[in-house]
Order: sequence, then structure tokens, then C-alpha cells
Amino acid sequence: MAKKVQLSIKRYNDTENTWWQDYEIDLKPGMTILEALYFIAENVDGSLSFRYSCRGAVCGSCAMMINGTITLACHTQISALLPEIIKIEPLPKFKVLKDLIVEMDNFLEKYRSVDPFMLNDLHSDKETLQTPQNRKEIVNSVKCILCASCHSACPLTAFDEDYLGPAVLNAVHRFGFDGRNKDAGKIIQKVNNQNGTFGCKTISRCTDVCPKEIEPSKRITEVKHRIKEMSYKGR
Ligand code: SF4
Repeated sequence: MAKKVQLSIKRYNDTENTWWQDYEIDLKPGMTILEALYFIAENVDGSLSFRYSCRGAVCGSCAMMINGTITLACHTQISALLPEIIKIEPLPKFKVLKDLIVEMDNFLEKYRSVDPFMLNDLHSDKETLQTPQNRKEIVNSVKCILCASCHSACPLTAFDEDYLGPAVLNAVHRFGFDGRNKDAGKIIQKVNNQNGTFGCKTISRCTDVCPKEIEPSKRITEVKHRIKEMSYKGR
């Protein structure tokens, strides 16, 4: 007989507000939390809502809180959480739209505000090369999948709604340290303020939860150092 798994999921909708709903399903070998949610939505309760896309820790859509830990549902093996009842909640500090789906608009507006892209001469017929050394500098920050786990875990994003937060500042590292980006300096200078890098108090909850092991707090510190170097050079 198949082993059973019990999941307790925090639900929300406009009419009934918030409640906990319990489900019991058969455990399949290698089953992830995302697969369990998918099974429930398809076979038990079609009203259960959650985001997902790639199922392989690449898209960042299925970040949520599982047994008190912010993580990706597609990256979490159920067998590692047994025998307890598994508690699943939406990403903390975000407004919940329905069940496990949260409102990402504010987070994405902040992301867009730092110009997270490369500016280059589109009309040049020369390749824009990157040195191996420069690639090493962004080897971590480039891995971000914008799952917002770090933004959710950071204590400061809850207290200061203007603070950009670790994911956005990591994007500043990724595009501001890339030697191929003509506007790298401008991107770095954009966060030379209290809403940017200097709002970070290096509490490092972001580093604890990042599923791609980017260590955003270290990346923010590197941006702070770059800002200081730029100000010395400008003297
Ligand atoms: Fe997710 Fe890590 Fe990127 Fe933050 S830095 S959004 S936790 S991948």
C-alpha cells in the first residue's frame, strides 16, 4: 500500500478569507511539493491555486513557505519532510491574491527601476567580449531566477517599503559588474542611497533562503565597495 502524505495548505480567497485546508495523498517515489500540489489541483480540489512553470528550479515561479522555510516547491522532496504533516503557505510579506499566489507587481517595479539590462552599441559590427576574469565576478549574481525568496525573507523589506531589497540589488551587481555594459557605472550609482545598498544591514536572511546559493548579502557588500571605489576615483 502506498505511503500517505498529509499536507496542510493555507488557503485564501476574496469571499472566505484565510483558512487551512488539509489534504491526504499517496506518496510517489521522488515526489516534490510542486508535484503534490499539481496532483491535488488535478485530482482532489481544482480550486487550489499556485504558480509554477519550469518544474526545474529555473523559472522561480513556485517560491513559497514550506514548514516555515521559504523555498521552491519544485526543489523540495516530500520524503525529506516526513513524517510530519507538511505545512504550506504563500511567500510571507507579499499580498496574497489567491491561495499560494502572491502579488509581485511592487517587487517587479523595483526590479525595473534599476534598469536591469545591458546597454551597448547595437550598430557595432564587433563582438562585445567579456574577459574570463569579469565572468568570474558575476558568476553568482547571474544565476538569479527572480523567485523573490530573498525579498520575502529580508526583515528590512517589511519595515521600509522603499528599500529595494536583496533580489533587486543582486540584479544591480549582475548588470553593474558586467564589463560589457556601457551603463554599468550608472546602474551602480542608482543604488548609492538608503533605499539601495546602504539600506542593507547585512542580516543575511536572503543568503539563508536563496535556492541558487547566490549569497545576495555578499553581492550587496561588493556593490557597496564598488560605490566607494568609484567615489575615490572621482576625487
Ligand atoms: Fe531568488 Fe536568490 Fe534571486 Fe533572491 S537572489 S530572487 S532568492 S534566486
